[in-house]
Amino acid sequence: GEKKSLSFVEQMVEADLAEGKNGGRIQTRFPPEPNGYLHIGHAKAICMDFGVAARHGGVCNLRFDDTNPSKEDTEYVDSILNDIKWLGFQWGNVYYASDYFQQLWDFAVWLIKKGLAYIDEQTSEQIAAQKGTPTTPGTPSPYRDRPVEENLELFNKMNTAEAVEGSMVLRAKLDMANPNMHFRDPVIYRIIQTPHHRTGTKWHAYPMYDFAHGQSDYFEGVTHSICTLEFVPHRPLYDKFVDLLKEYEREQGRDTDYRPRQIEFNRLNLTYTVMSKRKLHTLVDEHLVSGWDDPRMPTVCAMRRRGYSAQSIRDFIDSIGYTKFDALNDYALLEAAVRNDLNKRACRVSAVLNPVKLVITNYPEDRTEELEAVNNPENEADGTHNITFSRELWIERDDFMEDAPKKFFRMTPGKEVRLKNAYIIKCTGCKKDNEGNVVEIYAEYDPDSKTGMEGANRKVKGTLHWLSTKHCRPAEVRLYERLFSVENTSADERDFHELLNPDSLKVLTQCYVEEYAATKQPGDFLQFQRIGYFTPDLDSTPDKLVFNRTVGLKDTWAK
Ligand code: ATP
Ligand code: MG
Ligand code: MG
Repeated sequence: GEKKSLSFVEQMVEADLAEGKNGGRIQTRFPPEPNGYLHIGHAKAICMDFGVAARHGGVCNLRFDDTNPSKEDTEYVDSILNDIKWLGFQWGNVYYASDYFQQLWDFAVWLIKKGLAYIDEQTSEQIAAQKGTPTTPGTPSPYRDRPVEENLELFNKMNTAEAVEGSMVLRAKLDMANPNMHFRDPVIYRIIQTPHHRTGTKWHAYPMYDFAHGQSDYFEGVTHSICTLEFVPHRPLYDKFVDLLKEYEREQGRDTDYRPRQIEFNRLNLTYTVMSKRKLHTLVDEHLVSGWDDPRMPTVCAMRRRGYSAQSIRDFIDSIGYTKFDALNDYALLEAAVRNDLNKRACRVSAVLNPVKLVITNYPEDRTEELEAVNNPENEADGTHNITFSRELWIERDDFMEDAPKKFFRMTPGKEVRLKNAYIIKCTGCKKDNEGNVVEIYAEYDPDSKTGMEGANRKVKGTLHWLSTKHCRPAEVRLYERLFSVENTSADERDFHELLNPDSLKVLTQCYVEEYAATKQPGDFLQFQRIGYFTPDLDSTPDKLVFNRTVGLKDTWAK
């Protein structure tokens, strides 16, 4: 395809390359915190981090930003690895910030010895109250000028099993009057007594994000540390700690010209959903969804389960692009990318979601025919499969109307319709129950109108899908709508529980699918003809087939 114009991030990377910075080396990282499952926002960062490296002969490593054991777990580590692979990316190495705990500790000790860090024994509320405002300076902590020896002793105490969470923190001694609030003696270490999922109870004092991220980048040799816009105000602090780290390294004869650089782009926000991990956790914990992979969730595993292709997620991210301004991205754009990609891949099958019986009265009772169905008209190489025709069929209830308006091109007494891959039939009437509900429809077929025969060529407006009642399988079909009923959930002041769409899941239990559809596995892309794109759900078993609607055929939300 045509080369898309480079994002501003990539222009910056290319400018650095042209200047020969870092010896022309490109190294990025994707740094998830293993405290939840990846969502579509993370996918945007993944496409950037891995994409930049791949397009410039560089490497992208994976780094688990596991500095807060109270929220992290190996369950999340495993899911993150799996989701990145599924999205189509391959990392160089897998690193953990926890691998640097000793190095970070040693660097913090060095800062203390230089008079650049101190132990504060105030509460977090007291510390916050002293921060000041961007236009007024903060108040120095009463502990700011503690002697070095005392700081070293207390820092060691922070890192014991007896240390009480919240009783003290290590703060960098920077500038309580700096207009950038992040410089007002930021907390760089805190006590956490929850065992760590990798280091167990070895550590009790843990570095804060700002004291771990840039340093981890430096230890690994990251050249471009690409992240989202909320980190713009952190960048000067990122650079400050890298400066100090380079000074520390220089003292030990280890520093070089190398320096990592932080670049920020806008977050992905989607309409009709939430993206914050806290809210996603709440949805799962309160059983408002069936789990992280409930197909209504904005997580990567949910989208996979729902039947989205990795390609369509990448295409969507490509289409929204990377800018310096936060925006709310339209869910319909994601669905359009899914439809566009699945149209090329999905195997066409027949399914009837709301069945009513159709009897072909002039078709012999004991006869069946194997008819050929094209798997994908978009791709001849996908071949064909067989579908069985017989006297008794299921069709969609909506495809019949007894008193139809002129423009109704489906089935109505006296008119002809075509049955897909089969015959032209003429409707002769129907049977109704006492309440007037149609229970059976009757038609006669034209034996010379089979698809492929000369007689099939006459003009018939409607083509219907169908299933032979004796040659199909019962199935449950799950239809999904927006999880939330408001477009911009984060701008709404109501509690987010109130914003949930009560009709986001509709389960149809009386559906039928053709035999061939029953051979498909979760993740196989199907199109139920005339209905939409579907995939077998993870709950599907040979005895109880379950399908998810990935997306309808048309954008029903378009105005
Ligand atoms: P939360 O703030 O909800 O806890 P997070 O953004 O901190 O989640 P991380 O695991 O730290 O989650 O994110 C890993 C990377 O993914 C970070 O570089 C982050 O900037 C990026 N990222 C997270 N959310 C989005 C998003 N909505 N759009 C683009 N990138 C994102
Ligand atoms: Mg984070
Ligand atoms: Mg965050």
